[in-house]
Amino acid sequence: LADHYDLVIIGSGGAGLVSALQARELGLHPVVLEKMPTLGGNTIKASSGMNAAETNVQLRQGIVDSFAEFYEETFQGGGRLNDPALLEYFTTHSGQAIDWLRLHGIFLNDLTLTGGMKKKRAHRPESTAPVGAYLINNLLWLLAQVKIPVYTNTRVTELLKDETGKIKGVKVELLGSEKTLKTKAVVLATGGFGASKQLLKRYRPELAEYQTTNQSGATGDGIFLGAEIGAQPIQMELVQIHPTVQQDTEKVFLIGEAVRGEGAILVDQFGERFTDELGTRRVVSQKITALPERSAYLIYDQAVKERVKALAFYEAKGLVLKADTLTKLAAKLELNASALEDTLRQWNTVVETGVDVRFGRTTGMTHKLAQAPYYAIHVAPAVHYTMGGLHIDQKARVLDRNGAVIPGLFAAGEVTGGLHGNNRIGGNSIAETVVFGRQAAQQAAVYLED
Ligand code: ADP
Repeated sequence: LADHYDLVIIGSGGAGLVSALQARELGLHPVVLEKMPTLGGNTIKASSGMNAAETNVQLRQGIVDSFAEFYEETFQGGGRLNDPALLEYFTTHSGQAIDWLRLHGIFLNDLTLTGGMKKKRAHRPESTAPVGAYLINNLLWLLAQVKIPVYTNTRVTELLKDETGKIKGVKVELLGSEKTLKTKAVVLATGGFGASKQLLKRYRPELAEYQTTNQSGATGDGIFLGAEIGAQPIQMELVQIHPTVQQDTEKVFLIGEAVRGEGAILVDQFGERFTDELGTRRVVSQKITALPERSAYLIYDQAVKERVKALAFYEAKGLVLKADTLTKLAAKLELNASALEDTLRQWNTVVETGVDVRFGRTTGMTHKLAQAPYYAIHVAPAVHYTMGGLHIDQKARVLDRNGAVIPGLFAAGEVTGGLHGNNRIGGNSIAETVVFGRQAAQQAAVYLED
């Protein structure tokens, strides 16, 4: 670790690695500091995709999309609580972000739907690799090519300002000792606080005992680091529960929205549907929590399995029940077999007619569930994402309690608040890390030039 860097980037998830690469390409010499022994944060676990509109990938599939629709659907999905300026910047730079990745050999050429979106705009790799791991592994390789130093087990414990209020350095802890690094600019890319019992207790006490899909380092450090030098946390009570998390094994597994996007349905303990499976995460979670067993079963057939590559992975992990017939599947789940058969018959009529009279589902219903074998995964909601975080502007500059810029301090990704409103749409967090990770580095470069 040197004594001085142009730019210190805290966190090695999507936001941190993207901003490091962008910074290097603008002529800066950044360093990435990661407190955990492993790299990639929560990003490496992401499975749905990266949302973007007006892309060539979409056009190649005949999907004519617009930034305006992307904006509007995200705004509605977020309870209209999204910061309009951030959302505007985000949606109108999403297509460019896909192009930027492509220029770096990162190809997201497959498309799927996520809850709350009417058009296929979740871009993901064509290979079996989940989007997060694919992105992180490629970015780490790219960082190595341009010799950007990345340190693990290195925790930032304090941000330092000079007497005029500008960033002048950071304090870090590594291998039990403390060190001060000089720098004029910092990007906070420390992720959210889904794994912090302390912060959940403070802002959403009723969620503190829920399981979480987050890695154990998602403890909101960036919120504390920023707040200590005047940054303003906003919308901290807006915590996302993901509706379909398998929790019967010691390690929990998020079962991505793509499974429903490709045609799976949810049934309750009576073998009946109870919701539009592709409503927003907020609504679907509420519906599951309202069931007597507070859990549900994802049901799909062989054809869905073949369309969603991740399902083979879940099966290998032992999360999936499989049977040659629906009757046998019902027996394994201890559900009423004729009720489950009725449900599938009704569902196939919905697919045929294109109208879901009971629940109003309008997406992910292009294929019947009719091809044996049949599968089920037991799922329930878990803490997944924290929409709240540090207040930033369109330039990814961190703002203080009076709305003034803290000179030299930038933030990107889940550590920031405001973009998603009260519900983050699946596929928007990866997009956020790329769009705002780039922006933070670009604006840091402008700042350092002045
Ligand atoms: P995002 O999706 O916004 O990029 P991630 O959760 O993927 O967020 O990554 C954030 C990373 O920041 C995690 O790997 C986390 O361990 C790391 N991190 C959090 N706090 C600190 C800290 N104080 N010092 C260094 N790294 C940190």
